[in-house]
Amino acid sequence: MKICDAHVHLGKSGPWQPYINPTIHLDKLIRLFDKYNVERAIVFPNPNVGDEYPKMNDYIAKSVKKHSTRIIGFGRVDPRREDAIKELTRIKNGLGLSGIKLHPMVECFRPDHPFFNKFFKKTNALNLPILFHSGDGFSSPGLILKIAKKYPKLPIILAHLREASVNALRECENVYVETSGTLPDFIELSVDIDENRILFGSDIPYYRYPTQIAIVEAAEISKKSKRKIFYENFQKLFSQNK
Ligand SMILES: [Zn+2]
Repeated sequence: MKICDAHVHLGKSGPWQPYINPTIHLDKLIRLFDKYNVERAIVFPNPNVGDEYPKMNDYIAKSVKKHSTRIIGFGRVDPRREDAIKELTRIKNGLGLSGIKLHPMVECFRPDHPFFNKFFKKTNALNLPILFHSGDGFSSPGLILKIAKKYPKLPIILAHLREASVNALRECENVYVETSGTLPDFIELSVDIDENRILFGSDIPYYRYPTQIAIVEAAEISKKSKRKIFYENFQKLFSQNK
């Protein structure tokens, strides 16, 4: 089956995980794509301290140039930094990237705090879709949902589909969910709401393709829904937002 992958990290990682080394370079990534039939993917920097993000965004832009038909580059930015808005503009207009990845726990910010209003206003004005890590605390889907409601034309992708993301999917039409690390049950629930807004994601190199593909395969949904999740929904979203 042909795959599009909505969640892939690339490049050097900060030394924040003691037992695994998530650093991964472009050649290895392309070999993985070839092995698992991954035609296109959203690719963005590994988590790191905010200071490193501009340099890492440069690396993503270079990788897009090398593999423009396969890689949709997303930038990373630490919204707390003074130059965050400048970097957003550079991500879009300077580097030509297609969206941003935000991790409210790694970057340590609460998305609905008024301090970040300007940041999200600019993200929306630049039409940069956001892939949000979703989980607990600052990454709760309930907090991210507030941003999605404020900017109803901006695609917001919630990574790691979980119970609270199912509610967000129901409440907001610009919310998409991504399947890395989820359970087949949550995929089944999401298909009942809208099978057109579920995207396969691997979270390479933190997770591996065989396990992440198996989660979607295990869901008791139609072949047509699986084709949409693995491939068609992504293609539709990223032809609209080019
Ligand atoms: Zn990730």
